[in-house]
Amino acid sequence: MLTYEEFCLRADEVEARIAAACRAAGRPANAVRLLPVTKTHPAEAASHAARRGFRAVAENRVQEAAAKRPAAPAALQWELIGHLQSNKARLAAETFDCIQSVDSEKLARHLDRATTESGRRLAVLLQINAGRDPAKFGAELEDAPRLLDTACGCTGLRVEGLMTIAPLGTTPDETAELARRTFANLRELRDTLASRSGHALPELSMGMSGDLELAVAAGSTCVRVGTALFGAR
Ligand SMILES: *Cc1c(COP(=O)(O)O)cnc(C)c1O
Repeated sequence: MLTYEEFCLRADEVEARIAAACRAAGRPANAVRLLPVTKTHPAEAASHAARRGFRAVAENRVQEAAAKRPAAPAALQWELIGHLQSNKARLAAETFDCIQSVDSEKLARHLDRATTESGRRLAVLLQINAGRDPAKFGAELEDAPRLLDTACGCTGLRVEGLMTIAPLGTTPDETAELARRTFANLRELRDTLASRSGHALPELSMGMSGDLELAVAAGSTCVRVGTALFGAR
């Protein structure tokens, strides 16, 4: 595990990358939120993030986050970025402040039931397989309008936008080209859904350690970064 000082140096570097990408795209530096991904790292990673002023961290497994959260500062928020099975919706709704990986109508309904009973409203993003990657979770592009309709009809959910993960290519060039296309697809889908549905969908969660510049260029509002902040898993 990195020391706090080492983590701060890495965070400075990642923030500089985001700022440079924003400048290149003509976007304000505060248009993109950096979300540290603490999965597989000890609870200390979340404490480092909180101490440096990050308001939230992300995890990809419900149980892992539920185990770490009690050790972290209470004000720190937790976001789920990994696939969620409907039978874990209740624990997920109790553990997370935002669920970025809502990928089916069934899951939306389960989360709705869990939050409505607790009287809360849960922030969610709809995960879309915008790169058409058979190895990735996420709703297919064609199914996104129905998923949005269903999720927006859930009074326990607040749909803030869309999330995607770009597929990996076999070469760096191919990976970059796939990322560009995936991010452009998500941006285009958001614009279409927003104008048709009247829901603004301001959040576009896309970009990770290796492709955050491409995501910022395509309009990302949230980059999810693990490796570049905490080291290899
Ligand atoms: C692990 C993970 C990340 C972070 O990936 P890095 O390449 O380590 O920055 C981002 N998004 C999702 C959905 C992840 O599972």
